[in-house]
Amino acid sequence: MSLFGGIEAGGTKFVCAVGSGPDDIRDEIRFPTTTPEETLGHAIKFFRKHHRQTPLQAIGVASFGPVDPNPASPTFGYVTTTPKPHWAHTDVVGRLRAALGLPVGFDTDVNGAALGEHRWGAAQGLDTFVYLTVGTGLGGGGMANGKLLHGLMHTEMGHMRIPHDRTRDPYKGWCTYHGDCWEGLSCGPAIEERWQTNARDLAPDHPAWALEAHYLALGLVNIITTLSPQRIIMGGGVMDQHQLFPMMRREVQALLNGYIQKPEVAAQIDQYIVPPGLGNRAGVLGAIALAQDAPAT
Ligand code: ADP
Ligand code: ZN
Repeated sequence: MSLFGGIEAGGTKFVCAVGSGPDDIRDEIRFPTTTPEETLGHAIKFFRKHHRQTPLQAIGVASFGPVDPNPASPTFGYVTTTPKPHWAHTDVVGRLRAALGLPVGFDTDVNGAALGEHRWGAAQGLDTFVYLTVGTGLGGGGMANGKLLHGLMHTEMGHMRIPHDRTRDPYKGWCTYHGDCWEGLSCGPAIEERWQTNARDLAPDHPAWALEAHYLALGLVNIITTLSPQRIIMGGGVMDQHQLFPMMRREVQALLNGYIQKPEVAAQIDQYIVPPGLGNRAGVLGAIALAQDAPAT
């Protein structure tokens, strides 16, 4: 059995694992994201130890961003313009390759999770689908026609613009760049600033969740009409509020208003907008999937 290393590189924490899939994770560690030197140093130490015991085939990194995921670019494998202190223009792949001498697969956190869901989770057998995370931010990735979405850079679905009724919701929005973009109105910190309460402490019937479902549904309809996904998978801390799923599904149907005549958005919508099949392990397993697909160097 070939072994791989996976790094779920988050803005808050790193999760590193060694294994070959959901039923075979041999070891896992997590630590806070500090400086690149310290954080990548921890990861390198962990993988070196394993590589000495049983050789690893490759490493995969599913990273917070923005990143450069284009293998033909001189800055491939960099975290690029992030406002996160110390991390702007950091060559993540180069450092790992130099230290470990292994091929490194690299993509956004959400494309990584999408790949993991495609291989082992809720997107098996599909060729066009979206993976969204709603947490500290709101990010989306996925596949179109069997390939991970890239293009100009990578998708930035969280920054799409959605209608904002300032009478219903005077909150200005959380996004530093746009204020009330999709992320700015819907991410965890936006909920907390709007309601002045920790999102975990808002009761399931609090009006915060109807508003959240409304905003999420507006963005989902835009994604459905532009990418034609066969399924939408939604993870991240905010989606631990499972009452959001039926509310969003109903609102998506109301907004589409019968326009898309497919059972997936009608009778079968419960299987169309779904939580990750891999649960909260989608990120780190996605990184292992990226390692499995890393081209040999
Ligand atoms: P990250 O975005 O760093 O990967 P999470 O997806 O857990 O991490 O997102 C963290 C944010 O999600 C928190 O700031 C909080 O606002 C929100 N959150 C986390 N857990 C819950 C929960 N159980 N219910 C509601 N909101 C939550
Ligand atoms: Zn924005």
